[in-house]
Amino acid sequence: MQQEKTAYIFSGKAKDVYEKSIDTLLFEFTDRVTAFDGKKKSECHEKGEITCKVAEYWFKILENSGIPTHYIECPTSTSMIVKRLDIVPVEVIWRNYVAGSLLRRYEAGDNLIPEDVEPKEGSLIPGGMIDFTTKFEIVDRPVNTDEIISNGWLSKEEIKYIEDLTKRINEIMSHELATSGIILADFKVEYGRTSDGNIVLADEVGTPDGCRFWKKDDFDNGVISSLDKDVFRKNNGDLNLAYNELYNKLHNMNM
Ligand code: ADP
Ligand code: UDP
Repeated sequence: MQQEKTAYIFSGKAKDVYEKSIDTLLFEFTDRVTAFDGKKKSECHEKGEITCKVAEYWFKILENSGIPTHYIECPTSTSMIVKRLDIVPVEVIWRNYVAGSLLRRYEAGDNLIPEDVEPKEGSLIPGGMIDFTTKFEIVDRPVNTDEIISNGWLSKEEIKYIEDLTKRINEIMSHELATSGIILADFKVEYGRTSDGNIVLADEVGTPDGCRFWKKDDFDNGVISSLDKDVFRKNNGDLNLAYNELYNKLHNMNM
């Protein structure tokens, strides 16, 4: 019988990863904060606990809504056990509003913003849009579906499956947030393959590290107030307060 053990494997930018068993991993969510491909670094008190609890909250909701995920359980307030996967080397971004790299790419002459959408932070993208970046390269770079297919990272059918799943994840999270006073502006997800080849949602989901969350009342008054990592990226306030405010708003709903 396989002996259960917890052996350190590696540290990502935000999480430490351990082997729990031959086919499971344990994530330790840390207080590390990074931005700009790791070039800007800091620590944020309570971040590990908040991101772990928020990811657990969304994984449970998504699983109950039929989204296949790697989530198993959270044995402590900062750790999560997941199924071990072969990670697809592509990061998947869903956008409901214009922000971040979409705007930076537009300013650099690479326009992906749909026609009729004003190229400014906070413009609604009707129906949303998806785009992809590389993973496991030193700097994440935008990648199109032709390159994803020609590199053998995903088949055409798998891309369609991932697009549909990501759209559905957006619908589920946006629906949950509808009465929370929080707008889900965009988010990043990762996928991986199980040993029998099924694609499931991996890494973390719905956390302020991997999503843009805006306060709805401020947004309705023309102001973008972030409850996510943009506070750190833009040096725009106290990250601990922003993460706690997001956590409390989710908690007051039904978390
Ligand atoms: P990053 O440096 O990419 O931000 P994190 O600090 O989030 O990484 O560490 C988590 C790492 O574990 C990431 O490289 C992620 O792709 C990987 N990962 C996530 N889920 C799984 C899984 N189920 N199996 C194997 N690796 C995973
Ligand atoms: N994102 C992420 N990890 C990355 C890149 C992006 O979690 O490596 C998230 C980011 O927090 C945002 C969304 O994906 O919620 C879209 O990010 P964008 O492409 O606009 O890039 P950014 O401005 O974050 O560099």
